[in-house]
Amino acid sequence: MKIRNMILCGLISICLVTCGVFWLSRRTSSTEEGGGARQEEVQESQQNPVRESSQNSIQTLPSDTDKKIEADTGNASFSITMLDVGQGLSLLIQVDGHTMLYDGGGRETSSYVVAYLKNHGFESLDYMIASHYDEDHIAGLIGCLRSFPTGTVLCPDYETDTDIYASFEKRLTASGAGINHPSPGDTYSLGDALITILGPSSFSAQADNNNSIVLRIDYGEFSCLISGDAEREEENEILKSGADFDVDLYVAGHHGSQSSSTQDFLDAMTPDTVWISCGEGNAYGHPAASTMESLQERNIDIYRTDLQGEVTLTSDGRTCTYSKSPSTDYSAGTTSQSTRQAEDSSGNRTGSSNPAENTEKEKAGSSNQAEDSSGELDYIVNISSLKFHLPDCPAVDKMSDSNKKTVHSTRDELIAQGYSPCGYCNP
Ligand SMILES: [Zn+2]
Ligand SMILES: [Zn+2]
Repeated sequence: MKIRNMILCGLISICLVTCGVFWLSRRTSSTEEGGGARQEEVQESQQNPVRESSQNSIQTLPSDTDKKIEADTGNASFSITMLDVGQGLSLLIQVDGHTMLYDGGGRETSSYVVAYLKNHGFESLDYMIASHYDEDHIAGLIGCLRSFPTGTVLCPDYETDTDIYASFEKRLTASGAGINHPSPGDTYSLGDALITILGPSSFSAQADNNNSIVLRIDYGEFSCLISGDAEREEENEILKSGADFDVDLYVAGHHGSQSSSTQDFLDAMTPDTVWISCGEGNAYGHPAASTMESLQERNIDIYRTDLQGEVTLTSDGRTCTYSKSPSTDYSAGTTSQSTRQAEDSSGNRTGSSNPAENTEKEKAGSSNQAEDSSGELDYIVNISSLKFHLPDCPAVDKMSDSNKKTVHSTRDELIAQGYSPCGYCNP
């Protein structure tokens, strides 16, 4: 059942509940001040329920008035969090004390993901899913395999010749976790949630994004679909399979690129909400203008990590609550030409093999001149030592290619990200 249908009802109940709590708190404080003031304040709070509600950053979508109160008392036992891993993907799903991590983001946020799990009290993972073997999805999983005993790892049945895949494979074998290559139709239980595999049904050696594990999660009346970096070819395969994938939440495939989230796919899913995981000013211009237009035309709520950071949805199976309000910004991602070239030559293959994607990147690059004149410069960062340099610093020549990355950023932004300036070139 679609939760959105009940929004109106829910909003009324939020107003009533908010109003009630507000009234109670006002009553307590005003009792000390005297009866006249109390009367006035009660009236004031009753007159402003809409304003109170709109100031609340939590969006609640209850399925009916009675159930809203249960959700407020913290009965939700399902949650999904889109971690802010920049240009990558990492989703943490918790159900009734069971945990599944779908992708772990790239190298740069690897320690962040491990720290996030530790800080939230996790000691082990029931399931880990490697959607496919691109760096921005599996690098962070390596640290997690090292840090957390893991029950079963679901990963697609293909191999690549990249260093990151070799590291992942090695760590996976050493971890002792069960390894499973799922097929469409396979199901897994995570507490009371049901995970159903929808793809891939075939493997492509050339375009490994289309080898991504696509799955839906059902928890009571709530449902969501996660598709890794699946592009239109895999989406079409899933469409043809006739699987049920009408869902409430869709985590946009391939960071919202124009090669994913086709019109047909969106029409079949009819999601109320779409999440997009992408880095601010990423090298690919994700999310694509065409994707954002499709979402806006359909009045779909969006959450995007490049502008909003992480987001969590919690649900008791009948209602769901978001940790923040949706973004109102349906604009495409912007990027810079220099970052794009650096990324393309660094061996990060996400999207770069797709000619359509390249056209999209060209457009995004040329539309970003304003940003170029706003104090941003090209810096060379060492992702291992976390030092940043000017491009002509002699230290750059000595850096290994795997640690070297060109970024277009401001000095302050790099420092905020944990990098420190090289003492020699003083960037
Ligand atoms: Zn990706
Ligand atoms: Zn990919």
